[in-house]
Amino acid sequence: MTSYDMINDILASARPFSIPLRNRFRGTDIREGLLLDGPAGWAEFAPFTDYDDAACVPWLRAAVDTAIRNWPAPQRSLVEVNTTVPVVAPDRARDMVAASGCRTAKVKVAGPGVSLYDDVSRVAAVREALGPGGKIRIDANGAWSVDEAVAAIGELSCAADGLEYVEQPCRTIDDLARLRGRVDVPIAADESIRLATDPLEVARRGAADIAVIKVGPLGGVWHALTIATECGLPVVVSSAVDTSIGLAAGLALAGALPELPYACGLGTASLLTGDVVSRSLMPTDGVLPVVPYPPAPDPTLLAEHAMSPEREDYWRDRITRVAALAFG
Ligand SMILES: [Mg+2]
Repeated sequence: MTSYDMINDILASARPFSIPLRNRFRGTDIREGLLLDGPAGWAEFAPFTDYDDAACVPWLRAAVDTAIRNWPAPQRSLVEVNTTVPVVAPDRARDMVAASGCRTAKVKVAGPGVSLYDDVSRVAAVREALGPGGKIRIDANGAWSVDEAVAAIGELSCAADGLEYVEQPCRTIDDLARLRGRVDVPIAADESIRLATDPLEVARRGAADIAVIKVGPLGGVWHALTIATECGLPVVVSSAVDTSIGLAAGLALAGALPELPYACGLGTASLLTGDVVSRSLMPTDGVLPVVPYPPAPDPTLLAEHAMSPEREDYWRDRITRVAALAFG
């Protein structure tokens, strides 16, 4: 069988899913995508719907790679994960962290229309829930200028009684580099790696202390492993609010890294109201297992999380166009 035939078979295997989110995220209440089956197992293709076709190419390469190629050998069997706290009221943040069992929490800050006061209250509530031994990291998704970041990080660090790191405080690599000279809190790069033409630039320019690496936007487990190794920074593997099929690929990457000094952002299954596999990758005591190969979807759950015919047409058209760009 030619690789062209194999890719066509994989595209033909696509099964849609549509799962409501517990909290609004990226301006949407629903997570949609396609699951692809291949000789090496199942993979998830779920680029966000605001991405154009070209931006979806690495996501499709990642999914096809998982469907046709076995994952690298794991170096560990368990991966510590953080819980993620979206923009919610302090009481809800406290409950979410307490229920998670995780010792590390990532708090989303600087959301549109959210005041620094609200962020400070939420971070303080998370510290209360974690106790003094837990770790708090924040993610600003590039929302701050350098001066705003200096001020906000000072206040949030105080409310958190110390921050583990701040993820993507500013949008550009120039600003990250400037900010890094002005604050003591370590800086992690996320968008500056996954949306960049050159994912290694941020490391080369000394603009971050930590690299956040995601399997989908970086073209798959093997390619992300190469980027993680070449960038020379400590790595945090994160999900893109994936189902357990996407999370398993993230865990394969986290499992294969020679060093893993930080908790990973793979404890996100609970952000969805359901899953496509019967044994969801929900952390126990803040830890997830590295699974040797991708789990398969449960047909009953796929039926439960079916898409409308219109949405299914949208996704099938989308993957056909992206495949033409990626493999045509
Ligand atoms: Mg991020």
